Amino acid sequence: MPKLMKVAGEVDSYCTKCRLVLNHRIVSMKAGKAHQVECLTCRATHLWRAHAPGEKAVPGERPAKAGTSIRVPRVSAAVKHEQTWEKALNGKGPHDFKPYNTGGSFQEGDLLRHKKFGDGLVTRVIDGHKVEVLFRDEARTLAQAMN
Ligand SMILES: [Zn+2]
Repeated sequence: MPKLMKVAGEVDSYCTKCRLVLNHRIVSMKAGKAHQVECLTCRATHLWRAHAPGEKAVPGERPAKAGTSIRVPRVSAAVKHEQTWEKALNGKGPHDFKPYNTGGSFQEGDLLRHKKFGDGLVTRVIDGHKVEVLFRDEARTLAQAMN
């Protein structure tokens, strides 16, 4: 679901250096949208790009039109998300988590520990260089095998 954009908030953006859509921090805003963003992976600052060049929204990942999606109350979705996260990590010890870095390689079901986002569960390997990770607050796309 779209989040309200604000300076210092996080947003998905295409990173021109990493060549991936990754988490970025908003540096400046223009017309209510992110303008300049800082890549949380490589720390480069560049203009916000919602998608990779020449790429539209990934089919099947988002509804084609926002108006056609079923609206779910925000609170219940967040609670459900956190329950899923807690269930996945329940009973896991410190040694079950791999420290996350962009050079690491992860598989679906792996548990990882991110310096900033905390503990997460790899829910999907998007491709050789991207994994979807469920963190306590939300799912994020992280880079992998970048070295
Ligand atoms: Zn980057």
